[in-house]
Amino acid sequence: IKRIGVFTSGGDAPGMNACIRAVVRTALYEKLSVTGIYQGYQGMLDGNFTEMTSRSVSNIIQLGGTILKTARCLEFKTKEGRAKAYENVKAAGIDALVAIGGDGTFTGADFFSKEYDIPVICIPGTIDNDLYGSDFTLGYDTATNTVIEAIDKIRDTAASHERLFFIEVMGRDSGCIALNAGIAGGAEAILLPEKETAIDELIAHLSAADGRGKKSSSIVIVAEGDQNGGAYNVAKKVKEKFDYYDTKVSILGHLQRGGSPSSFDRVLASRLGFAAVKELLKGNNRMTVGVRGNEVVTTPLEEAINNKEYKLSSDMLELVQVLAI
Ligand code: ADP
Repeated sequence: IKRIGVFTSGGDAPGMNACIRAVVRTALYEKLSVTGIYQGYQGMLDGNFTEMTSRSVSNIIQLGGTILKTARCLEFKTKEGRAKAYENVKAAGIDALVAIGGDGTFTGADFFSKEYDIPVICIPGTIDNDLYGSDFTLGYDTATNTVIEAIDKIRDTAASHERLFFIEVMGRDSGCIALNAGIAGGAEAILLPEKETAIDELIAHLSAADGRGKKSSSIVIVAEGDQNGGAYNVAKKVKEKFDYYDTKVSILGHLQRGGSPSSFDRVLASRLGFAAVKELLKGNNRMTVGVRGNEVVTTPLEEAINNKEYKLSSDMLELVQVLAI
């Protein structure tokens, strides 16, 4: 291979820039050329490319977001769309790809590399930590840290007013952020997409805590995909039967996607960017790179897409209850 095309796609995540930097510099070190593709698959369709030099990635390791931008692109889901993308990619002399993104991005890369003779290596980038093939995805650690900062701040006001706060965090299908940030933030209870929590059970739990004199610090973390329909619905249902507390809801929203990446995410991004280029140089195709037990590992792309691993450890689910006494 002579020229790698690198892009970020789908939901943005802190650490994507550190990853772009690692891909670009590893490739240049290996005497390859690099094309930056703007806006993911949309940029392939539009031919929105830029030549990357070592200096194009200076001073970005600490930046959130992605300098290459990201987008959702419906046209790439069609065969015709991908054909158009291929024409542009080929015309630009790109003969290998590194894709940074989530599940959808992986699926697009799988189709594309099966239809055309362009090897692709995928890097898991999403704050949700919901991809098979890596213990951690880019952005997850930073997002969790952002959430606990917010929980700590809300706790100050919750304690002062003796209020019960329902804090909604991101995670439509994955409770990773909710569970980890909830434990780190000392939450009273954590509601997850993967696990049904009966409102009566939650109320019994809250009133028992109240009986133990815990009223001044009650924080309940609700993942956006919780089975009761999110924080507003949970708060409403609790209030209908348990009108003891002054109840408030706080939806953290998109602030969870931004910010300077943590040291963990920067190192992970650097390792995976480096590894992706090395895999291409070995002649590999349709793989993801990730970390398992602090070792960089590869997984066949198809397996990463199809395998829905359950990442919530049972000890963590249990300890939430135990540590809330
Ligand atoms: P994420 O990568 O974060 O999961 P999306 O699900 O939006 O985000 O996927 C990113 C992009 O990947 C989509 O906008 C689309 O261009 C492409 N993509 C997703 N699913 C497919 C598919 N089934 N076939 C082809 N391309 C797809």
